[in-house]
Amino acid sequence: MKTKLLYHENSYIYECSAIVVDVEGDEVALDATIFFPGGGGQVPDHGIISWNNRQNEGAVIAMNKLDCLPPPVGTEVVGTIDWEFRYRMMRTHTALHILCGTIFKEFGVQVTGGQMYPDRARMDFAMENLDKQRIAYIEEKINEAVEADYPIRVYTLPREKAFAIPDLIRTKINLLPPEIEEVRIVEIVGLDLQADGGTHVNHTKEVGGIKITKTENKGKINKRLEIRLVD
Ligand SMILES: [Zn+2]
Repeated sequence: MKTKLLYHENSYIYECSAIVVDVEGDEVALDATIFFPGGGGQVPDHGIISWNNRQNEGAVIAMNKLDCLPPPVGTEVVGTIDWEFRYRMMRTHTALHILCGTIFKEFGVQVTGGQMYPDRARMDFAMENLDKQRIAYIEEKINEAVEADYPIRVYTLPREKAFAIPDLIRTKINLLPPEIEEVRIVEIVGLDLQADGGTHVNHTKEVGGIKITKTENKGKINKRLEIRLVD
């Protein structure tokens, strides 16, 4: 059976009960999960799985790997993610969407890569000029987008429909594996549209504020920007 990915439906659920459907070594599969496994540049969640009221013996997990022997198939467990960490990742992930949406809007250039870390994130752009003045301008514009409090919508589209949207084609949607029939869309209404499996906040104001902390020249037409959240 396929695990129900609750974090895809609602990124704000930090605790849920589930049934163990498979066990292998120290790994456990659940019928439903709120633990984001990592991917698309976003770091995986960690947290606790507890059962039989053994709250204190609950195991810390990275993906579905436990630090103790898993309970048998059929056991009802409660999964709790490290919410403080996850919410920070949701804000960081959304900050990157604001950055690429803003840079495309202002300069018409595309993203060439990106990665999130627990305390920062980076994104590369097919950009030639990234002088001090431009960096300051980008920082001003992305914080304006935070303040504008754009809503963020998450929905799925049939593959053919998604492939017909020009904004999605530019984010290399054509690299999606052919067996994927439904495409999950994350839209910052009026700013950014992406095919995306990660977790994001509901409104841009939740990001708080964004600082550009570093830039790097990765080639004539490839520039890297590092950002950090302002609390
Ligand atoms: Zn995303």
